[in-house]
Amino acid sequence: MKASNVTLLRNARVWTMAAEAPWDAPQECVVVMAGGLIDWLGPLAHLPAAKTAAIEHEFDLGGRAVTPGLIDCHTHLIYAGTRAAEFERRLQGETYESIAQSGGGIRATVAATRQATAASLLADAMRRAQALMNEGVTTVEIKSGYGLEEATERRMLATARTLGQTLPITVKTTALAAHAVPAEYESADAYIDAVIGWLGPWIDDGLVDAVDVFCERIGFSARQTQRVFEAALARGCPVKLHAEQLSWQGGCELASAYGALSCDHLEHLSEAGVHAMASAGTVAVLLPGAYYYLRETQRPPVDLLRRAKVPIAIATDHNPGSSPTLSPLLMLNMAATFFHLTPAEALAGLTCHAATALGLRDRGVIAEGRRADLCVWDVDHPRELTYAFGVNPLHRRVFAGQMP
Ligand SMILES: [Zn+2]
Repeated sequence: MKASNVTLLRNARVWTMAAEAPWDAPQECVVVMAGGLIDWLGPLAHLPAAKTAAIEHEFDLGGRAVTPGLIDCHTHLIYAGTRAAEFERRLQGETYESIAQSGGGIRATVAATRQATAASLLADAMRRAQALMNEGVTTVEIKSGYGLEEATERRMLATARTLGQTLPITVKTTALAAHAVPAEYESADAYIDAVIGWLGPWIDDGLVDAVDVFCERIGFSARQTQRVFEAALARGCPVKLHAEQLSWQGGCELASAYGALSCDHLEHLSEAGVHAMASAGTVAVLLPGAYYYLRETQRPPVDLLRRAKVPIAIATDHNPGSSPTLSPLLMLNMAATFFHLTPAEALAGLTCHAATALGLRDRGVIAEGRRADLCVWDVDHPRELTYAFGVNPLHRRVFAGQMP
């Protein structure tokens, strides 16, 4: 019996993004996709006759560059409302922290999100996800965190799940109920008690792929983070952390001790934190959009991360307050201009290392047996994706072997 939907891509110049793959010279090859996976990859002359006989569809890519589908491993894609007025306040000199302390910022988004129906949250999120897909995203992580109450957090997580069942994109959900302390709680500790009570049922209902905490002086302490992590890990749910963004809190050392998938932001990461992440295999997720939008000046310690061989991912951090971008391609350019990543490092950050940051081993590189999630680009070399900005050379986005 034939495997379903066997498709041959001819004349492909493939950057597999596997660790040993050459950056300067691509593999000139054909790709066979079957059953949503990469079935075979190599020079046309070596294609086995049995594979040739099974081919149902064929596409000539005309020598275009092929990379793995892009993976946006850190977004807050589901919310209601806009923070454009807050942007105007920040332009007049107010800081992110002062706006947060005066009840604006995240609390405005929480109020709007609590009032939104599941249908309107889904409609807005679908529009945003489509924008990411238009630039080649095939997998996206979506966090909750704008409900800060059980029902709305659950609605956000369920909406993220529905999104993944509605559009041709993989959605990984992250419970970020510990994003901020809602006004109705007297203390952060009391709110963390509530969050820990909610996590179990959400995990049991299959709504949560990972648990995250905003560990920051305007968020939660390392001790409070630890309590949430222990509750998640007790149910077998992996953890990740918003860490060392605005100040050093020691979050990365803590998260690494709990085997976190990733620590994200990291502008104030310490050398001890870098080594803890290296030992634990925790991915460093850098978010240049937030760095840019908040006009931060302290860069994450990229040289230290490189020397310690910590895998570096990048992501849009799409959110209404500090990174309202829907352009992963712009993040490639900003990772290079602001954080001095090379174009190869930046692309690895949106493919293979982003997959690791989500605990996904079936994608992020092009290899036999991996998912056939691909981008076909109208460029001679993928370094052009980082070089240009405000430009989208995506020719085709292939999701699970389906050609558009
Ligand atoms: Zn975030």
